[in-house]
Amino acid sequence: MGILDSKIPSGPLAEKWTKYKNEIDLVNPANKRNIDIIVVGTGLAGGSAAASFAELGYNVKTFCYQDSPRRAHSIAAQGGINASKNYQGDGDSDYRLFYDTVKGGDYRSREANVYRLAEVSGNIIDQCVSQGVPFARDYGGLLDNRSFGGVLVSRTFYAKGQTGQQLLLGAYAAMNRQIHRGKIKSYTRHEMLDLVIVDGKARGIITRNLITGEIERHSAHAVVIASGGYGNLFFLSTYAMGANVMAAWRTHRRGAFMANPCFTQIHPTCIPVSGEHQSKLTLMSESLRNDGRIWVPKRLEDAQAIREGKLKPTQLKEEDRDYYLERRYPAFGNLVPRDVASRAAKERCDAGYGVNKTGEAVYLDFDAAIMRYGSEKALTSGLKNTDDAHIRKLGEEVVEAKYGNLFQMYEKIVDENPYKTPMMIYPAVHYTMGGLWVDYNLQTTIPGCYAAGEANFSDHGANRLGASALMQGLADGYFVLPYTIGDFLADDIRTGPIPTDSVDFDKVEKDVLDKINKLMSANGTHSVDYYHKKLGKIMWNKCGMSRNAKGLKEAVEEIAALRKDFWENVKVPGTADDKNQELEKAGRVADFLELGELFAMDALERNESCGGHFREEYQTPEGEALRDDENFKFVSAWEYKGDPKDAKLHKENLIYEYIELKTRSYK
Ligand SMILES: Cc1cc2nc3c(=O)[nH]c(=O)nc-3n(C[C@H](O)[C@H](O)[C@H](O)COP(=O)(O)OP(=O)(O)OC[C@H]3O[C@@H](n4cnc5c(N)ncnc54)[C@H](O)[C@@H]3O)c2cc1C
Repeated sequence: MGILDSKIPSGPLAEKWTKYKNEIDLVNPANKRNIDIIVVGTGLAGGSAAASFAELGYNVKTFCYQDSPRRAHSIAAQGGINASKNYQGDGDSDYRLFYDTVKGGDYRSREANVYRLAEVSGNIIDQCVSQGVPFARDYGGLLDNRSFGGVLVSRTFYAKGQTGQQLLLGAYAAMNRQIHRGKIKSYTRHEMLDLVIVDGKARGIITRNLITGEIERHSAHAVVIASGGYGNLFFLSTYAMGANVMAAWRTHRRGAFMANPCFTQIHPTCIPVSGEHQSKLTLMSESLRNDGRIWVPKRLEDAQAIREGKLKPTQLKEEDRDYYLERRYPAFGNLVPRDVASRAAKERCDAGYGVNKTGEAVYLDFDAAIMRYGSEKALTSGLKNTDDAHIRKLGEEVVEAKYGNLFQMYEKIVDENPYKTPMMIYPAVHYTMGGLWVDYNLQTTIPGCYAAGEANFSDHGANRLGASALMQGLADGYFVLPYTIGDFLADDIRTGPIPTDSVDFDKVEKDVLDKINKLMSANGTHSVDYYHKKLGKIMWNKCGMSRNAKGLKEAVEEIAALRKDFWENVKVPGTADDKNQELEKAGRVADFLELGELFAMDALERNESCGGHFREEYQTPEGEALRDDENFKFVSAWEYKGDPKDAKLHKENLIYEYIELKTRSYK
């Protein structure tokens, strides 16, 4: 077992980043013109990095599998992005954002990275505002904020329920300017299938043109993997359908360590699963918990009557409802962190209080907020003697202005009006905190190979607080990588272009073709989705919201058997030298079938509960996660050794110099 060096700069926490920037090597503007960088992924992390590199003068090549960078999964982000601007004057600061994030991650993240994240968070907002991102503003025209879980301040900047889309348009516009200048060459509908290492450094990738099936070689002096998260491992999740682990996994297979693969976020407010034929789950943004109150009936018989359609939630009196988050966590109430809220919902549903047909749903109710906003509106509008119906109408208008698109989406999917009857929600897989291990420079264990955004493991520990993925992705892309990558590239000013006709490229291309041929020639009877669904079931049942040693051991065995079956019995129709979406899926699912096993091994190895990793054997009498700081205060980083079962565990010991480790409480 090796110990990893995270290369955290010395000096006081708040000065590390500045000190680091003052001391690193720089590449002068004329030399930047001779250096190429590949960026795999053009979501918020990759898009912002690519635009910034090109603005600095590097030659950039970007890759994405969609038909436009605009379609990256980042576009789905709804609720907002955090920054410690303290515009509300409610006591926020860099330190508080840092503290909330470390505590929110259940003390399993790296202090220096998280502090840097907080430090640059304000710059992100300035950058995006100057790009024209239309953040919500208050009546006076100033930027507005709302609250997200796990914090006691309002620091979330938002653009209605479409924050990711607006931020991505900003990053895409910045990219487009560089595409127009010839500084970015954008390869859309191209999938990275492997990483090429030359003399120990990442120097290129092999891609497949998804329209023509052509296999291509691309070289550069450094490669950035910004390919997003791997939540689709569970088949059902809130991710975009195409989201996958291929770029990160294939990089892992070439030597980059995979960190904390079992740290997955289950989001508490998603539209519940409705049946076997579903392939996608839909998020109802956490921002809704600012105003929505979560409850189930107090009595089992009422829950049963609701499930049987004999009782409506609106008929249940206030005193017959259990607002269980407000009851259990009075200080944070409905805004406890996602892992806490998810487990609490599961606990109530497991105890028989679930409110939909499957018994796996709780209510998110806006009635109180509608009446509160309505009364306020009536007062500020000078209306007297207004009746309840009028107040309700006014309140609904306010709620619509805040969350209208989310309510509309809910109504379209569930066919119920959430203004009139409470939403039904249940936890679903939403984000992966695990990813490629990176040091302070965001460099993986392969020199010259960097990872950014959700593809790396870096800042969120065992749980990500809401609105902090966008912050991290944009911090990585706009403000961290543009500095840290220069320190590496300073050694390459005389290297010249990297040739692609080398034995290193030959070898990796051959591996890629062999794998494609193997998939095409399997000629079995089952579709790729058949395996993906089966894998998803194992993951959800044995590695999901709560885990235990027995289930995890079974999962390791079952996934290995499923993988074997996949390679023998999968059927991929069509040909490899043409557009072939089944082949694309097959490659992605093949990687999930390896990652799934490592995921279960990682969860089995971590004999503690922390954040989203809840081991049933390790819990407090109240059912809260029970950490073991003495034995598990580390990042687990797995080295690829062939079969997932042979992966070698390395540890990065986490040192807490500025935050005292405490039992995480939101009461
Ligand atoms: C429904 C939903 C709502 C969310 N809301 C919020 C929110 O309000 N606030 C918040 O902070 N976070 C939110 N998140 C999380 C956040 O959106 C993501 O974590 C973040 O956008 C990920 O950005 P990224 O740039 O790392 O990856 P992505 O946006 O996933 O981009 C990945 C890119 O990699 C490319 N790619 C992947 N594999 C390959 C390959 N093999 N070859 C070539 N290209 C490849 C893709 O084409 C894409 O361009 C939400 C997530 C979901 C699912």
